[in-house]
Amino acid sequence: MDYQNILNQIQKELASTPSTGKVASYIPELAKIDATKFGMHLHCINSGHYNFGNNEERFSIQSISKVFALTRAMSLLGDMLFERVDVEPSGDPFNSLIQLEYEQGIPRNPFINAGALVISDILISELDNPKKDFLDFVHNITNNNSIVINSEVFESEKKYSYRNAALLNLMKSFGNIKNDIETVLDFYIFQCAIEMSCKELSTAFMIYANQGRKLSGNEQILSPRKTKRINAIMQTCGFYDEAGEFSFRVGLPGKSGVGGGIAAIHPGQYAVIVWSPPLNPKGNSELGMYALERLTTLTGYSIF
Ligand code: GLU
Repeated sequence: MDYQNILNQIQKELASTPSTGKVASYIPELAKIDATKFGMHLHCINSGHYNFGNNEERFSIQSISKVFALTRAMSLLGDMLFERVDVEPSGDPFNSLIQLEYEQGIPRNPFINAGALVISDILISELDNPKKDFLDFVHNITNNNSIVINSEVFESEKKYSYRNAALLNLMKSFGNIKNDIETVLDFYIFQCAIEMSCKELSTAFMIYANQGRKLSGNEQILSPRKTKRINAIMQTCGFYDEAGEFSFRVGLPGKSGVGGGIAAIHPGQYAVIVWSPPLNPKGNSELGMYALERLTTLTGYSIF
């Protein structure tokens, strides 16, 4: 397969694809990003790297970090974890409070904010230094110790985290948050503020494409069974209340973030990352989704 040729074609098409997306502004620091940035990086298990655009520039990974947090929590707790968070698509926006009240403080899945906050709470209970552990984990799966958080984004989100604080308070009233609200919020915002490039994320996501193993050195990070489960949750819950549309158009498991990044994998084949800050009304990168749809269309392969 001539992947570089396919990526070149996608890049050409993007130049004339109209976009009505809007850069996320509810975290003020994110609104400062140049909306014209676009990067794509495809990392194939058998044939290496293909890319174009701003694929080596770091951006705020935001909710893409929820996949790493879930990976750590599943390594530490196994299936017990799913007594505190479910694995069903929510069909509601990522920061919605409505379902939580009906469902007694058990979030629908680990990728909506409520679920990710429960995962943060678990990591805080299980680890002596969760922030260090989280960064160590990211450094290990990328072989890159230079990845850090953007402290302006961290401070900016801290000032405006009323909804996440509301989610935490509601879940704590049902007994599903064990630590202090402030401590959980602080850790959650920290993990979301990590910055990585498309290229770095493609190495990190290789573990999900490669049955839980790092490509370089072959270290087993997560068992194949747990990797299968995380991929299934990415497929059904990775795109806010647009997971059905993403499956329909792209046909790969993945996870998006409000920084405009999307990470997706084709098990046994590749990890692919796109970054374009303007988001569609459901909060997913508009042109990023288009580029991934074109990738699975032009290659003729998705998981379906
Ligand atoms: N830190 C963001 C929030 O909690 C993450 C949102 C996202 O990327 O979905 O609002």
